[in-house]
Amino acid sequence: MRFGGPSDTIDPHASPETGSIRRIARHVWRIVAPNPSPLTGPGTNTYVVGSGRRIVIDPGPTDEVHRERILAVTGGRVDRILCTHSHPDHSPGAVPLKERTGAVVFGLPAPDDGHQDPTYAPDEVWREGATIEDDDLRLSVLHTPGHASNHVCLLGETDGLLFTGDHLMSGSTVVILPPDGSMRLYLESLRRLRTLPVRDLAPGHGSLINQGHAEIDRVVKHRLAREAKVVAALRARAAATLDEILAEVYDDVPRFMHPVARFSLLAHAIKLEEERRVKRDGETWTWVGE
Ligand SMILES: [Zn+2]
Repeated sequence: MRFGGPSDTIDPHASPETGSIRRIARHVWRIVAPNPSPLTGPGTNTYVVGSGRRIVIDPGPTDEVHRERILAVTGGRVDRILCTHSHPDHSPGAVPLKERTGAVVFGLPAPDDGHQDPTYAPDEVWREGATIEDDDLRLSVLHTPGHASNHVCLLGETDGLLFTGDHLMSGSTVVILPPDGSMRLYLESLRRLRTLPVRDLAPGHGSLINQGHAEIDRVVKHRLAREAKVVAALRARAAATLDEILAEVYDDVPRFMHPVARFSLLAHAIKLEEERRVKRDGETWTWVGE
């Protein structure tokens, strides 16, 4: 596909079908990788931004067809590859795309928790507040730990479009996997994003989300409602393991998702422990007060 084809029609609300290429803003194309699943939705969103030499945000998994689509949209002219974090559905495409284009890979170093893309090796480590500039855009780098400790979001300074990676996603709730993931930091990062001039959200999975502040408010409220269920379940018992309260806390979530939800339950429990509202003794968690 070349520029000038049907994909040049700007459609912010185009649905993110697996494998689709859509222009969602003047200088933004979205290419959905062929890795659909209950956790990734239709697949990982790779964004191509800029008007001259292009910037690729989250190259996605290693997949030849996906890579060819990125090369088609960019005409092979890629200057920079930005990774929001190094989970295996976001960054493995960086190495082969760099080989084809000579682009420089940007990101924060990966933690060693066994859940990261082993091929991930950023050429440039950016700082909080750094900017990535092109002729027509300026992206500021925001360190947003929570989903992953090395997670960043990228905010377009002129249009308020926030590339959220996995910090916010459309259609499902972000999994927080301790110890690298932290519910306390996740909520802190959300509250910080709420203070910034964010308009729309371009998530790592799913469709564009309008009214970013309202979505952030909704997610914070949802997380605190879940936390209240954890508190209620622990309060009602002298002491409990997470497996004993999992079904009660996630009674609105399909059973097949409970093994994944258990990670977020652990993240909630650790947050309560950090706030000294809960005590942990091995596998047992005890409510100790407000
Ligand atoms: Zn992730």
